[in-house]
Amino acid sequence: MKHKTNTTPTSHEPPSDLGQTVAILEAQISAYQASYYNGEAAISDQEFDRLWDALKQIKPDSPVLHRVGADAGDGFPKARHLIPMGSQEKAANPEEFREWAKKIAPETVVVQYKLDGASLELQYEQGKLLKAITRGDGLVGDEITRNARRMAGVLSELDLPFSGGVRGEVVMTRQVWKERYQDKANCRNAANGLMRKKDGSGCEDLTLICYDAAALGDDGYFQDELEKVNWLKDRGFRVTETKTLSDAEAVIAYREEVAGLRPSLPVDIDGLVVKDRKTDMADLRRDRPERQIAFKFDLEVAYSVLKDVEWSESGATYTPIGVVEPVRLAGTTVQRANLNNPDMIRSLGLKIGSAVSVVKRGEIIPKIEGLAPEGAVPGDRETQEIPFPTHCGSCESPLEDAGSRLYCPNPECPKRLLHRLHKWAAVLDIRELGEKLVQQLFTTKRIQAVSDLYTLTQEELAEFERMGELSAAKVIRHIRTHRVLPLAAFVAGFDFEGVGETIMEKVAAAGFNTLDKLRGASVEDLAGVYGLGEITAKAILTGLAETAADMDTVLAAGVISIAPPPPDTAQPLRGLSFCFTGELSTMKRSEASQKVKALGGSVKSTVVKDLSFLVTNDPQSGSSKNKKARDWGIPLITEEAFLAKLS
Ligand SMILES: [Zn+2]
Repeated sequence: MKHKTNTTPTSHEPPSDLGQTVAILEAQISAYQASYYNGEAAISDQEFDRLWDALKQIKPDSPVLHRVGADAGDGFPKARHLIPMGSQEKAANPEEFREWAKKIAPETVVVQYKLDGASLELQYEQGKLLKAITRGDGLVGDEITRNARRMAGVLSELDLPFSGGVRGEVVMTRQVWKERYQDKANCRNAANGLMRKKDGSGCEDLTLICYDAAALGDDGYFQDELEKVNWLKDRGFRVTETKTLSDAEAVIAYREEVAGLRPSLPVDIDGLVVKDRKTDMADLRRDRPERQIAFKFDLEVAYSVLKDVEWSESGATYTPIGVVEPVRLAGTTVQRANLNNPDMIRSLGLKIGSAVSVVKRGEIIPKIEGLAPEGAVPGDRETQEIPFPTHCGSCESPLEDAGSRLYCPNPECPKRLLHRLHKWAAVLDIRELGEKLVQQLFTTKRIQAVSDLYTLTQEELAEFERMGELSAAKVIRHIRTHRVLPLAAFVAGFDFEGVGETIMEKVAAAGFNTLDKLRGASVEDLAGVYGLGEITAKAILTGLAETAADMDTVLAAGVISIAPPPPDTAQPLRGLSFCFTGELSTMKRSEASQKVKALGGSVKSTVVKDLSFLVTNDPQSGSSKNKKARDWGIPLITEEAFLAKLS
């Protein structure tokens, strides 16, 4: 053993006193894991999480945390569904649907979005969540209760002593996929992988959306499908979009309408589920229930061969676009399909010459989602590696391959600057400042930054080719028109990678509503804004730093000003941050978070130094959050005191 005094912790070898702690933690976790997976957990989930987190902090590379099979789906305890998850009757087109409607002749049907995720059954006993079970073979599935508890929309406790099952679909929103999981082919694959991870990491990025429930031993508990959905809603579950219709043709028209909405929906759906409004438990127990049907959207997968990869340049980012042999897909001929990013190419193992599946899951632009199934595209082909560009076409800087993004890291890259000028012209809607003119001004080096626009004179402009006095005067007049921009529009105009006006609106609404407050924010502050995540938060802060001088010069020119934030009265919690630990008794944590945000405050997932309050009903507990807060002198307040602040 080494001497305690001169050892420093490294990721490989903790010092000896820690070494002992590590050994104990590893032994405990292993033992508890074994008991948990045998279906008789020896300790609570919270206790287990605490051990896990402790070990992760001291020795992140511990083999116990990365055990073989830790990521695999096997090894979960098996559990039986309350009501079998039978396979669904399917209609692929209006004709098949009409046939079903004629046979069943329901008076009224309930029509729901068919979510494209992974099914999950929650089992409750007297209102307490007992088990969460994946679909499995329909009768028996994997018990993933610990993982489910981390997901949004899974309630550990109901407000009434209900015993029975609640069904839903585990999904990942497109926003989350876009921010963090673009190496997975789609939201469904990402959700499927995460929900079956042994350590449960990432499950907080998943959401359960419910559509069904059944009471144990009481078939009469629910009699009406619409009331059932409302019952779920009243309990606090998120539910899938639901409506009632009474005519088959109306359902067919609704399917068309929803198909058109798909690109703008937050989650992937692949059709509608149509059910007789009258609940029929006997039917539900059949292998293939008859009184409901999945009315799918038109098939949107085609198989082709990847012929080439083009790298589309937008700002600093190089995005791979697959060129495929022309193929018919959802009514159009497809020759180009998105490949998202370098990670996607690597994780799919794509090569030039690979047979690929091209899909259009409601997106406007088709994308390559994976290799085609064996034999889907006949014939032999030679394959070769896909070449990646190595240097920026504009400034020759070596490109940076960040996995989720291949980009030119040079903040002064002309391509970036030019893109920013176009963006600024678009945000301000200066139509006279067209693409050609901007390009010209840029190439002649007269305009290299947004602020240069505000020193441009009519005389200078008039000298440009084909630009007469009159139109030069018009351009200048438009540029010089005084404007008051919302903060979100102003910042979006400076074109940070992947940060649009909508994102900036969220940030402003969360209380970062002046340029000073934005500049003073930390990555953690911004990442905590709902739905943002760390990558976007970093992009915002990097962008602010890189454009600080340009922004200041623009504002100093006096033409553009930023609209002042709304008065403070509506947001009494502005500037205050809250962190929660332990359970709240009057509301769920997510509800509490929303209330804080609505009143202008922010919510932290961990105790940080500048936290305003830690909310806990058990201030004496030895939890690490309590300890940290006390160490840093952060006030601990009870739920009651917290509620007082809300009112
Ligand atoms: Zn460059």
